[in-house]
Amino acid sequence: MFESLKKKLTSFLGLKPKKEKKTKKTAAKPAKKAKAKKQEEKEVEEIIEEAEKEPEQENKPQDVLQEAKEEKGIASVKEEGWFTKLFKKAISVKLTQLEFDEFFQGLEITLLENNVALEVVDRIKESLAKDLIGAELRRDEAEEFILKALKKSILSILISPPDIIKQIKEKQGVFVIVFFGINGSGKTTSIAKFAYKLKEHNISSVLAAADTFRAASIEQIQKHGSNLNIPVVAHTYGADPAAVAFDAIQYAKSHNIKAVLIDTAGRMYTKANLLKEMEKIIRVSKPDLKIFVGESITGNDATEQARTFNEAVGIDGTILSKADVDDKAGTILSVGYITKKPIYFLGTGQEYKDLKEFNAKDVLKHLGLEDEDEE
Ligand code: GDP
Repeated sequence: MFESLKKKLTSFLGLKPKKEKKTKKTAAKPAKKAKAKKQEEKEVEEIIEEAEKEPEQENKPQDVLQEAKEEKGIASVKEEGWFTKLFKKAISVKLTQLEFDEFFQGLEITLLENNVALEVVDRIKESLAKDLIGAELRRDEAEEFILKALKKSILSILISPPDIIKQIKEKQGVFVIVFFGINGSGKTTSIAKFAYKLKEHNISSVLAAADTFRAASIEQIQKHGSNLNIPVVAHTYGADPAAVAFDAIQYAKSHNIKAVLIDTAGRMYTKANLLKEMEKIIRVSKPDLKIFVGESITGNDATEQARTFNEAVGIDGTILSKADVDDKAGTILSVGYITKKPIYFLGTGQEYKDLKEFNAKDVLKHLGLEDEDEE
């Protein structure tokens, strides 16, 4: 496991790690605990609010992790004593560009190791620099100040997802969602989980087996339909996916079903082929939402897939599956930044219930900037 950002920050600053929050929490009285939690929640809300006000930045060309590390000379980064050095002569200092660069180098490697794409690291650096360079830092408040700025810069990258259930309920007529993503990314499973979630909210749905290419894909979605007692519209293998989507929408209209969830084939395409096939499905089904499903564990792969699908079809949001497996924060940040679209859900396991509404605070937790139990 990679070192958490908070640990890294603490060790880089040269501070003694603070007493574990958990220990403090067990000892705290319930009322006190609730008050502290409320205060923490308020702070995070404020950070999110501030972060969302930040203007969006242009994408910069991306590099691979290794190149990035070499380019930035990370191997030679000295990690200790920055804080001590900074406050050697005074208890309050104004941070210079040089001091900031030295500080950021220490964090850069952790971000890259956490699968954060280089262009996102640069974006975080830019935002942090704005808040820290020239800022008056007091020795006793510096750590909190820097941590807050870091959280803000990370949150500024993410867009909060709209309430999808509300959107579906409020639409007059059938609500159509097309799901994209490469084979094995968890697309079909995520569709089934989403259908289960709709069912929990008393929203009826029909599944469209528009992946007519991959062997067993039709049986797979039919199995989910039968487990969940949800109808599935399917043709034969090799049939036109757009025709399946069209039939599913007709089925929904004639059976008074609210949502149509369209599974699509996830072959590794060249962009031109992808565009052609996807365009037809979109033209025919006129979806209310186009959702990209990617694996949170594949790091930069998912980031590149999101970029390709976004350029090809213009996605409206993302579901990142397998967030229960490992190493998700970097992918979340990178995909969010590249697509400039919200992450709707994280897949957190193989059961139908394992689809968690995305919350930006999750990213802070996964990066170790907030405790896992701060829920
Ligand atoms: P598709 O080819 O994109 O439709 O992918 P599938 O839905 O068939 O999923 C591929 C594999 O990933 C299956 O074994 C799923 O059970 C598994 N999977 C999907 N989502 C998750 C998740 O959130 N967590 C875990 N651990 N496994 C998942």
